[in-house]
Amino acid sequence: MIESVNAKLRVGILGATGVVGQRFIQLLEDHPQFEVTALAASDRSQGKTYAEACVWRLAGEMPRRVKQIVVQSPEPPLKCDFVFSSLPGDVAKGAEENFARAGYPVISNSSSHRMAADVPLLIPEVNHEHVALIDAQRTRRGYDHGFIVTNPNCSAIVIVMALAPLHARFGVTTCVVTTMQALSGAGYPGVASLDATDNVIPFIGGEEEKIEAETLKLLGRIDGDAIQSARIEVSAQCNRVNVSDGHLASIRVKLERAASIDDIRKALASFTSAPQQLKLHSAPERPIIVRSENDRPQPRLDRDAGNGMSVTVGRITSDNVLDFRFVALGHNTIRGAAGAAILNAELLVAMEKL
Ligand code: NAP
Repeated sequence: MIESVNAKLRVGILGATGVVGQRFIQLLEDHPQFEVTALAASDRSQGKTYAEACVWRLAGEMPRRVKQIVVQSPEPPLKCDFVFSSLPGDVAKGAEENFARAGYPVISNSSSHRMAADVPLLIPEVNHEHVALIDAQRTRRGYDHGFIVTNPNCSAIVIVMALAPLHARFGVTTCVVTTMQALSGAGYPGVASLDATDNVIPFIGGEEEKIEAETLKLLGRIDGDAIQSARIEVSAQCNRVNVSDGHLASIRVKLERAASIDDIRKALASFTSAPQQLKLHSAPERPIIVRSENDRPQPRLDRDAGNGMSVTVGRITSDNVLDFRFVALGHNTIRGAAGAAILNAELLVAMEKL
């Protein structure tokens, strides 16, 4: 089915002009396996070249190769082998289904399909075996070559990366988390400057529910063609803070089995998984970096660790109410969005699903 004439798979990006779409373009510029050949966005951008449609808001120049690609409507056919989607949730639902039905694998950032029972919600380091849902999805939905795979919410991914090694070794029974989330998480133009400056906004619509639900699916076990959700009590509170990039999560956990602070530190620092073993291009050497300074992690200093793909954990200590507490930080548009989806695609290639 794949029609590439060269060694690289051809990629389409839906929502290519947005905050996440631009990260895709940046991260894919010199990718050894994927080449951007199609771009789609709203009718505001359609018919224009990418250079005309997109105000480039990342450091460095807009990659030369995409400048003359004409932005299209996010509907098949597009000249590509599979699509990355960073469309707004309401648009993504139907558009992603249309692409999957038309035979395109869809690797999505959007929330619309994440909790569907037959859609893998993937963090390659945590639950790569959930890829097996693809076969059931195709059978159930009558898709031929196409399918939909998703990555989690940008805070859920940071939280679950830190919980996964602890859950595997000690069994997490309770997790109470408070997030401090960057402005870029709201897309562009996002939160008005007069709301964000000198302020913290203690509400991000739908975010707490997403973290609570997605954590259980991500840490769940695959059983035949279904996911059995993890049995963990999760409580999340989310705040928007005046930081450009990088979501910070203050996490408290209760564990089933006894552990020392040193056990926790070692479990986190030694964590590696399938992406590292498979040497996937975007996989960080250390998925979790543990810092011992008492004032780290910080968004400005730690969000780019592992090229933005590592989660940094610090402030590990025992807790008077639950068992342990710590702080985790990840780059929301890289590990929390475009980089996560690209790592998913690299995993799918390694597993011969793409
Ligand atoms: P954004 O900056 O607002 O970009 C939205 C993109 O979608 C733009 O390319 C826009 O095109 C396009 N679009 C908007 N309405 C459309 C329509 N009706 N039809 C077709 N295209 C349309 O948002 P973002 O932050 O990149 O987020 C994109 C998706 O990723 C969302 O589902 C979000 O929840 C998810 N996500 C974001 C983050 C993050 O940290 N920002 C992290 C994880 C997941 P135009 O430029 O032409 O309007």
